[in-house]
Order: sequence, then C-alpha cells, then structure tokens
Amino acid sequence: MSNRMTNNDTVTERVAADRAHLLHPLHHPSAVARPLVWVKGRGALITDATGREYIDGLSGLWNVNVGHGRTELAEAARDQMTTLAYHSAYAGATNYPAIALAEKLSTLTSPSINTFFFVSGGAEASESSFKTARFYWKALDRPGKVKVISRLRGYHGVTLAAMSATGLSAYWTMFEPRTPGFVHIEAPDPYRFVQTDPATSLGVAAANKLEEAILREGPETVAAFIAEPVQGAGGVIVPPPDYFQRIREICDAYQVLLIADEVITGFGRTGRWFGLEHYDVEPDILQFAKGITSGYVPLGGIGLSDQLRDVVNGVPLSQRWMHAFTYSAHPTCCAVALENLDIVEREMLVSRADVGGRRLLERLKQLEPIAGVGHVRGQGLMAAVEVVADKATRERYPPELGLADRLVAAMLARGLCTRVQLDCILLAPPFVTDDHLLDRIADIVGESITEVVKELR
Ligand code: PMP
Repeated sequence: MSNRMTNNDTVTERVAADRAHLLHPLHHPSAVARPLVWVKGRGALITDATGREYIDGLSGLWNVNVGHGRTELAEAARDQMTTLAYHSAYAGATNYPAIALAEKLSTLTSPSINTFFFVSGGAEASESSFKTARFYWKALDRPGKVKVISRLRGYHGVTLAAMSATGLSAYWTMFEPRTPGFVHIEAPDPYRFVQTDPATSLGVAAANKLEEAILREGPETVAAFIAEPVQGAGGVIVPPPDYFQRIREICDAYQVLLIADEVITGFGRTGRWFGLEHYDVEPDILQFAKGITSGYVPLGGIGLSDQLRDVVNGVPLSQRWMHAFTYSAHPTCCAVALENLDIVEREMLVSRADVGGRRLLERLKQLEPIAGVGHVRGQGLMAAVEVVADKATRERYPPELGLADRLVAAMLARGLCTRVQLDCILLAPPFVTDDHLLDRIADIVGESITEVVKELR
C-alpha cells in the first residue's frame, strides 16, 4: 500500500511511531490529541485512515489546485523519471522540460517577465528574490540598497531571511534575532486598517505607509518591497482596488523593486492567471510555487523583468550570479508542472476558480448576520470568514478560549478540513470543487461558527 501500512499495523500504532520519529511543521506534541492520518485523495475530497471523507477546504496548503488523484500528473512524472529523472542545470547545462516550462511561463506572466529561475518551494523563491534584488543594485553600483520592506500579516516562508520578511510574529518568537534589514508596514486590511487621513482612500493611505517607511529608512538603503497580491496565511486580506497602483508609483519614485509573492495567488487561484493582473500592475520580480505543480512534486521559482535579466546578464564573470540549488530546474518537477498547466488550460480552471469563487463568496456573505461573523472576504477561490467576539468593536475572543481549535474541530466533525489563522477561517478549495460542495463548505462554516459562539457565551 502506498501509505506503507501493513495488515498488522493499526492506526494507533502508526500514530505512536509518528510521535516517536517525526518532527512536524509547526511542531508541538500537544498540537492535536490525535493527528489526522491522510491516506487518499480524489478531486476535492480527502480520506483519513479511518475511512472518513472530508472536503479539502484549503487544497492541501493552498496548492492542490487541480484536485487530488490526477493520473496525468503521475504519468508525466513516470515518463520523465524513466527518461532522465535528474541532472544538474548549473550554467553550462540544461534540460528540455525546464526550457519548455520557462518558455510556457513567459506566455502566462506579465509581458515584461520572460526569464525564470526554478527552486523547490516558496521560501527558496523568497530568498532568490531578495538576493536578486541585492545583486541588481550592486550591479548598478548602488550597494547600499539592501533592505526589504514587507507587510505585517504577510507570509513569505520561514527560512531565516524569508521568516524575517514574514509579518506574523508567532513565526519569529523562538528564532530571533531576525536578519537585519527587514522592515514591516501595516497590511491594507479593509476591516482593521485605521484610516487617519480622511483626504485619501483606504487603499492609498495603506500604500502610503510604504512611502513613509522608505523615507524613514532612507531610499538609498531599500532594495525591494515584497507583497502577496492577496495576503493568504495572514487571513486572506484582499487590498482595496487602488492599493497596488499607488504601491507601483511609490516603488518607481524611490527606485525600489516590487516583488510580487504569487506563491498562493499564481496559476489561477484568484480567478486570473496571476493576482496582480486584477490591478493592472507589473512587478519587477514575480515569485511562485505551490500551484505550478498543484503540489504533486515540489517546485517554485522567480520570474525576472527584462530589465533585471539584462542586468544579471550584463555583469562581468567575476560578479556572476552565484545563486543555485541542486534541484533548480529539476527535470521531473518541470515535466509535472508542464502537464499541470496543461490541465489548468484544457479544463479552463482559471475561469472555474473565478466563477466558483464568486459563488462561494456569495454564499459566505449570507453568513454575515450570524453571531460571531465579523467580516467575509475573498477573491477567486480564496476566502476568509473572520470571527469576532463583538461585531460592533471588532474585538477578538481572548486567546485562552481556543477559538481556532474549536472552530477546526467543529468543521472537521461536519466533514470540512481547513485552517484557522488569527481567528480567520481560511478557505481555498481545489478549482474542481463542484457547486454542491462549495455550498456545503459555506453551510458547514456557518453551522460551525454558530455552535462555537454558543459554547463561548
Ligand atoms: N509565500 C507565500 C505567499 C506562501 O503562502 C508560502 C507558503 N504558504 C510561502 C511563500 C512559503 O512557501 P514554502 O512553504 O513552500 O516555503
């Protein structure tokens, strides 16, 4: 069996072995009394070791966009593995799947982005973006431009520099000090941003926080600003429509590179191929991961604007871009990505994410009158329901009441698996989730909030 359970194994024994031998992401032994043991997935559904089926409300971790159990992706991997599973793509060597994937991406991303570097995941993409931004300014003889500005409630991964850009302090606590030169500004959260300038819109006021930070730090010290088009892990924060236009203006005015972190939003999640398309803004660096392979194999990367590519290509050999991973441009991962993008196109899943997302959001909005529902928001197939103790003041429940764990348990009991972050129920089901299941997700969210809010009264 693919999950390596033998007849004699019981789930209990396997869980004991897990406790003995596995350190989990976000590890703590008390995190759950008994872990969910996932054994199977089909479409938008996943099955645990007891045989119980759940709706995959977050597509794994925002990545299994084409749904579970796709034999086409397994075949693409098998074909490439049996031809050439792996060889180095260090400068001087290359492989056909990586070339084809880079060529394909240049047709999907904004017109100015045509050159790609591949890594294994989102954090490596962040590191690659930050290092490339520093490289760019050094190559242009402005070596003081090294700082990176990001947003509170932004998530960019947890390697040391990526963690330092991530704006969720729980990820820092036991790993401080953070890398120097990382600065945070407020998120453009329409529900919680405190607007102090009545002369501007909320979007422009939130974007102006970037200008304030650049001026405070000194424009000669700032290399880049990194932002997710929709902040995912921080609570699906959809910025006001004028936010990114103003951000682009500020970046141009102070010569700060704009890095779009499209690790979640890329490849259709927001109902467009890339999230920044909604705002008609082009980044200087576009980073991606997750949805490029729908999570079937690990792959991420960055795309460079032609201007950055020319600078990278223009330095003398002694200043070459000394950045590399063993698994950069991994042939098998690139082959799976090509097939995955083919599925997204063939089955018109970007427009499905748009249409399905509108339906889900509409159903979730109907929950607004329910006690405890503070704010409902989303774009494409990314949505969040923020739960509050007091609708009028927007006050949160005290953390010791364990709201998140209670909500997760109530949703699991009804057959929906997802995460709750900062009291926001996060939703990002696979693009193939049918209307019936989308409606069921909204129903379960509503019933679960009602139950938990009653418990806490
Ligand atoms: N950026 C964003 C926007 C993400 O959502 C994530 C992962 N949730 C990352 C970066 C980090 O990706 P990884 O976990 O693959 O390192």
